[in-house]
Amino acid sequence: MKYIFVTGGVVSSLGKGLTAASLGTLLEARKLRVVLQKFDPYLNVDPGTMNPFQHGEVYVLNDGAETDLDLGHYERFTNCVLTRHNNLTSGQVYETVILKERRGDYLGKTVQVIPHVTDVIKDRIRKLSDESKYDVVITEIGGTTGDIEGLPFIEAIRQFILEVGPENVVNMHVTLVPYIKAAHELKTKPTQQSVAKLREIGLQPQVLICRSERPLDRDVRRKLSMFCSVVEKAVIEERDVEHTIYEVPLTLHAEGLDQLVCDLLHLETPKPDLNDWRKFVDCVISPSKRVRIAVVGKYMDVRDAYKSIYESLTHAAASEDCGIDLKLIDAESLAGGVDDQLEDVAGVLIPGGFGVRGAEGKINAARYAREHGIPFLGLCLGMQVATIEFARNVCGIKDANSTEFDKDNPDPVISLLEEQRGVRNKGASMRLGTWPTKIVPGTLAERIYGDTEVTERHRHRYEFNMKYRERMVEKGFVISGTSPDGTLAELIELRDHPYFVGCQYHPEFQSKPNKPHPLFKGFIAAALAYQEGGKKPITVIDQAPISVSDQELVLQR
Ligand code: GLN
Repeated sequence: MKYIFVTGGVVSSLGKGLTAASLGTLLEARKLRVVLQKFDPYLNVDPGTMNPFQHGEVYVLNDGAETDLDLGHYERFTNCVLTRHNNLTSGQVYETVILKERRGDYLGKTVQVIPHVTDVIKDRIRKLSDESKYDVVITEIGGTTGDIEGLPFIEAIRQFILEVGPENVVNMHVTLVPYIKAAHELKTKPTQQSVAKLREIGLQPQVLICRSERPLDRDVRRKLSMFCSVVEKAVIEERDVEHTIYEVPLTLHAEGLDQLVCDLLHLETPKPDLNDWRKFVDCVISPSKRVRIAVVGKYMDVRDAYKSIYESLTHAAASEDCGIDLKLIDAESLAGGVDDQLEDVAGVLIPGGFGVRGAEGKINAARYAREHGIPFLGLCLGMQVATIEFARNVCGIKDANSTEFDKDNPDPVISLLEEQRGVRNKGASMRLGTWPTKIVPGTLAERIYGDTEVTERHRHRYEFNMKYRERMVEKGFVISGTSPDGTLAELIELRDHPYFVGCQYHPEFQSKPNKPHPLFKGFIAAALAYQEGGKKPITVIDQAPISVSDQELVLQR
């Protein structure tokens, strides 16, 4: 088993996660079995409760773990399917240590950062290696070298290297080499100091990944090599990509990173086959057509808040040889009416979300898409607002709402399951992770998926209230997918619309380059058709009635 540790220096936001993921792509292309994990030094137990303004999107795994968005890069860039064991936060480490202490597991000893905290961290690295399913474990350490919170992780790695032998480990340091305009020079000092800081706590990097705006010339490379004690060919340039993040594996390969890492780890592999990846990147960079898609959400200034959605759109568009012009619309600006804001778009996407802010604007956007035959994709909350809109404006249920937005409204078309059964104050938990969906034959959904059973990742509390099913189906609302027992609506569509799809789950967590998610692919194809003026209404055969049983929701957690 071989180990690669990825640390970051100088500043945050250097794209360490992307670099780690890209190395994963390259090693997989060399037929190695790779797994990635992330250590996050913050004290939150998981990022599930963190605000998207602060921390970007919460990425949900199959097992329901709410994790850092870098795990999204890992899954998109490689074939790994991750679990909660692939993301460790200081909060989890301390929780484990304190629980053990309370149980008396430490037999009266003084509990300390070294060895008790570092032992928990080392155990986690070993746990992945024990599975013996992989050749290489890539571990990214969040934060920046020098952060107090990161120290126990670095110390644990130092000890770990001693235990497994340095020939089995590569330390890769991602650093910034800034260009100072006034001096017309790239500066190596911040990197020198950051590496000195790493050495002070016992780690010597073998590879430097230098993020910079300008090419590194020979002098800069020599200087970095000399002062940081890294061989010159291990000074790797990672310049800002011109078009898309998917170029990163290709630029790192051109710099010789994968060969270097394999040499350092004494791994003999075939040359990497990057043809499919290259083709995908070409499609992203120079598509033959473009389509304008509106995303109506709450965090439009925070690019990371809907990261997986933007990536999924890119994957789907590339598969249709098409580029995307995103129109990001703050839902609150549509609260008073849509006006002409959606006039120039060929598709409307409403992402997931929590809370009432922006809800009325999203409802207005869904109405506009429905009435104008514009392809629509509603994800989780996006499906819920589309449902409310249809209930209000087509079925005449004027006060229809979600109990998330208005607790006491008389027509809760979206509500907690407990409320549907008249049970209150039970405290609902979030429905998280992968659940199966049964798709109704003859629906658009079946055509898009080409399947009648799919599994998708969830993260929500509220559900469609089956009490309203009949009244809505009558008017053209189609429940095209349900939980296997038929109690929960998972997918909806509209009978008289070319592409109006809402899902209670998050398809954006399962889309990859060269493997776009069917719902996104269908959406982009429909948007292109709409743009070209060839609206093709799709006939939907109404489904057999589904009985609402009293069955409990079994939580996966
Ligand atoms: N707030 C909604 C719920 O809890 C939707 C959640 C989401 O979009 N992820 O059901």
